[in-house]
Amino acid sequence: MAGIVVVFDFDKTIIDCDSDNWVVDELGFTDLFNQLLPTMPWNSLMDTMMKEIHGKGKTIDDIVEVLKRTPIHPRIVPAVKSAHALGCELRIVSDANIFFIETILEHLGLKEYFTEINSNPGFVDEEGRLRIFPYHDFTKCSHGCNLNLCPPNMCKGMIMERIQTSLEGKKRIIYLGDGVGDYCPTLRLGKNDYMMPRKNFPVWDLICRNPMLIEAEIHEWSDGEDFERVLLQLINMVSVDVHFFSVDCKLQTFSASNHSLPKPLPVPQ
Ligand SMILES: [Mg+2]
Ligand SMILES: [Zn+2]
Repeated sequence: MAGIVVVFDFDKTIIDCDSDNWVVDELGFTDLFNQLLPTMPWNSLMDTMMKEIHGKGKTIDDIVEVLKRTPIHPRIVPAVKSAHALGCELRIVSDANIFFIETILEHLGLKEYFTEINSNPGFVDEEGRLRIFPYHDFTKCSHGCNLNLCPPNMCKGMIMERIQTSLEGKKRIIYLGDGVGDYCPTLRLGKNDYMMPRKNFPVWDLICRNPMLIEAEIHEWSDGEDFERVLLQLINMVSVDVHFFSVDCKLQTFSASNHSLPKPLPVPQ
């Protein structure tokens, strides 16, 4: 095992668009979406949109067909498979919904590569309508994150905290994301972790504004080719680091020699 957990955002990170916007736009409901957006939280709006879409005779199969056409850069699927083959554990943290994400991952043949999908619940009810619920039920109480960048239904920083607690500091984390909501988990990464923000996207802007706030090493990426190259270089670098560290410990046990650890290879930006 590589001793690494890779945590991916989904929209505009794994896929090249926002899955909510993609479904609404492709089914021809953009105007209604824009009209209702100022009146309710995004997550509640998506549930309302699914009601409207169902009411206009669109079926769950119509939605699935649209999801199967979701744009994705051709290097993303191979990159995810390589990260898995190198021994990394892969997880998703997304403010989309479980139904969209699982449908797309199944279509891409990627679902079995992930051990955990943290997202808003989404399921088809008995009338064939897709229901979308908040990950955190903000109608009962707030999730309590006081960073004003997290939506009421999800604080990815709190999900990151839970992941870190479950790992007990035994693994290093590589986080990939693009959006405002990916900033809170970035602040929780430690100095042995890595953040891969998508260049010129909101989380990258937030990080650039005050890089001193981030403990993790930052490695930006722009497109699917960068995504693959930077991610695999980081994994290989960390794996070499972990390997040499364990060899060094054994040497010390047997010969009491005091080898210094090799310097990690720099990753080009
Ligand atoms: Mg995103
Ligand atoms: Zn937060």
